[in-house]
Amino acid sequence: MRKFDPEKPVGTVLIIDDDPLFRMILEQVFRANGIGEVLVAQDGAIAAGILAARPNEVDAITLDLSMPNLDGVAFLRHAKAAGYKGSLLLISGEHKTVLASAERLASMNGLNCIGTVPKPVDYNLIVQKIMQGSPSERRSNPRPPVDIDRLNASLLASRLTAYYQPRTFVKTGRLSGAEALARMWDENGTLMDAGEMINLAEKHGRITDITWRIIEIVIEDCRQLARQGLGGLDFSFNISASILDNGQFPDQLAEKVRLSGLQPSSFILELTESIIPHNTAASLEALTRLRMAGFKLAIDDFGTGLSNIDQLAMYPFTELKIDKSFMQAASTDAFSRACVETSVALARELDLSVVAEGVETPEELELARLHAIDEVQGYLFGKPMPFADFLSYAKAGAGRAARSPLEALLAS
Ligand code: C2E
Ligand code: CA
Ligand code: CA
Repeated sequence: MRKFDPEKPVGTVLIIDDDPLFRMILEQVFRANGIGEVLVAQDGAIAAGILAARPNEVDAITLDLSMPNLDGVAFLRHAKAAGYKGSLLLISGEHKTVLASAERLASMNGLNCIGTVPKPVDYNLIVQKIMQGSPSERRSNPRPPVDIDRLNASLLASRLTAYYQPRTFVKTGRLSGAEALARMWDENGTLMDAGEMINLAEKHGRITDITWRIIEIVIEDCRQLARQGLGGLDFSFNISASILDNGQFPDQLAEKVRLSGLQPSSFILELTESIIPHNTAASLEALTRLRMAGFKLAIDDFGTGLSNIDQLAMYPFTELKIDKSFMQAASTDAFSRACVETSVALARELDLSVVAEGVETPEELELARLHAIDEVQGYLFGKPMPFADFLSYAKAGAGRAARSPLEALLAS
């Protein structure tokens, strides 16, 4: 695989468009701006073939939505299947609501969509967007694909830890706690993509080992914070539905926390909506036991699954986390804005606190404030960081760094 060169982050661009004149002009403009390799495809099927053959070599794609054969919307699924990790710029002459929903679809497919450009196009705008890339860590740090042997070897060698991403109270700007996110390295010290690693672990029956290890790390780190006078923060961690198949899980977790001297109410277990179709009676029993033991329960990535209010009300959740795709699209897309509003209304109805994920900009924070969202989490406040960095972050006035964007907003 080609090595990533941070000095020249966009080495190869793929133009997908059925208009030959457009392809020719854009290719010239890219070359004039120093992009080394420009690939072209006249429809989604040809582009999917290029991606499948060279999965880690394309840094950026410009994608026309309307094309014969396989169109841009269908191509999004192929890009996901190929594990495409570069950036994606959507281009279309369709109405802006079409562009906005395609952008949402791209983000739901886990693609790094850096924006949209209407047709007729401004070529310089396209180049500018492609060269600037996006704030997402996904593109700036491409990782080799994870395989089960590498995952098992890393697990065996304990190359697994928790990174912490701050959570901040919107009203006060104070640090409320952190979400623990699993991080695993391979033998070369390369960080694996967390989402891919977790999916693979789920598929190969290793997720329970990972979950327990993360729980142990979180408990230990939480004790260290308490020893340093930084108790009172809440820590959330992710659990997969399958761990609840073990009827002993709630008691085992409660016992571990009891032995640590910490309170179960300091811990939030995050579950996605996939819990709902999963073995309803067993998972409902496990969640009920966990709540009775004092743990908090969050419904994660809310809005991306298919649950409705009745199903949600069945489970004893304490918190709802609005998925980052809605927060990020809300400024440009009425549907996402409506999803945020509906999620908050639903949470209020069920007496759940609301956390907005993926808050990257002051505008997204302002949106959270307008909707009276309780807590926010996202790159605006901090990326997931090693425990030592989180400790310094927490010590720096329990979130002084986190306060500044909010203070700036409140002052404006
Ligand atoms: P998640 O639970 O939804 O975690 C939030 C993800 O969003 C994290 O990705 C985080 O780095 C990313 N994120 C946070 N703020 C922003 C932002 O402002 N912008 C953008 N673009 N992204 C943001 P990460 O760490 O790569 O984790 C991916 C997923 O892997 C997690 O999604 C979770 O579903 C899963 N995962 C991670 N650790 C564990 C674990 O210990 N157990 C289980 N079962 N799943 C885990
Ligand atoms: Ca989560
Ligand atoms: Ca989430």
